[in-house]
Amino acid sequence: MAEPEPEEPKSFGNISDRHWSRARAGTNEEALRYYRERSHAPGVEEGGGPRNFYCMHCDGVIPSDPPLERCPHCDGEISGVARRYFNWVELDQPAKSDFRSLLPFALGGLIALALIAFVIVRLLA
Ligand SMILES: [Zn+2]
Repeated sequence: MAEPEPEEPKSFGNISDRHWSRARAGTNEEALRYYRERSHAPGVEEGGGPRNFYCMHCDGVIPSDPPLERCPHCDGEISGVARRYFNWVELDQPAKSDFRSLLPFALGGLIALALIAFVIVRLLA
């Protein structure tokens, strides 16, 4: 017969040493240091706007509206479809037009339709 698990002490009253905030003390120092540094990046320390993203070059906050071509902090170029948010990167920009890559297929289809029409007209004539 299995021994019953010793009952965990209830989590109320003073925080014991088993509480996660104390049990994990000293772990993940590298991540904590990174986020502490991020809290002082340009535009972050002052508080950001309602919708913004981060510069890929200087970690500064860039407002989404109005759309900018260059970073207001380091003048780095904002390009591509990827935007860096607080702890993820998102491909949230609309892709550029597919017209040029689809043009050969469209032209091929038009030529095939013209050939079919030509053959039908020749057979019915
Ligand atoms: Zn920047």
